[in-house]
Amino acid sequence: MRLLTGWLLALTVPFAAADPVLRNLEIQQCSASELATWGDGQDRVASAGAFTFSYRHAGAPAWFQEVQVLGLLQKAAAEWSKCGIPSQVMPAAPGAQSSRGNIIVQWDATSSAGHFGLANLSAYQLSLGAQAFHLLNQRNPTHNALDTLQMVLSHEMGHFYGLVAHSRRCVDVLSYYHDGKGGQCFTRHPGLLKAFPEYRSSLPTACDIQRCRILNRIP
Ligand SMILES: [Zn+2]
Repeated sequence: MRLLTGWLLALTVPFAAADPVLRNLEIQQCSASELATWGDGQDRVASAGAFTFSYRHAGAPAWFQEVQVLGLLQKAAAEWSKCGIPSQVMPAAPGAQSSRGNIIVQWDATSSAGHFGLANLSAYQLSLGAQAFHLLNQRNPTHNALDTLQMVLSHEMGHFYGLVAHSRRCVDVLSYYHDGKGGQCFTRHPGLLKAFPEYRSSLPTACDIQRCRILNRIP
């Protein structure tokens, strides 16, 4: 449900011999045996048959332009639409209220609670944390924060599509690398895990989409 600031550690792992071809194949493929979650939430049907993601730019870190964030949201929404649930992205109208099918995407320190992002599934709000991005910028000023924001948006949107539990497959955008109790995520290429600044995909993978289709009963 939440993206922890602990991810900063993963983002500072030194770059080694990374093979993007193998990672990309893992992103694009999904076998039934690879569908596994940490069981840390109850997956369910999406709250609506179609989504509008309405974006409020107020409070964003200065290095993100509104048009950039809208572009990232559109990219994530386009990928998630492979689940079979259509969506659109637009700037939020003044006074726009969230509802089942209208998710407000906003920068809000309180509701993001120190995380990069947090999906509030009952308030239909996807909250982003400017503070976490400021911290990332301080620690790693050369890192492209748009990559992180893309991943955060894709991940949190996935919760609204009904993927409430986190994936155990490292490359999935819905993944958690570990459960905090000694359990580790799995990957076809364990040796590659630390070769990338971030092994997790920034967009939904084949397994994220397959899980979404299964739980929304879309053949
Ligand atoms: Zn999450």
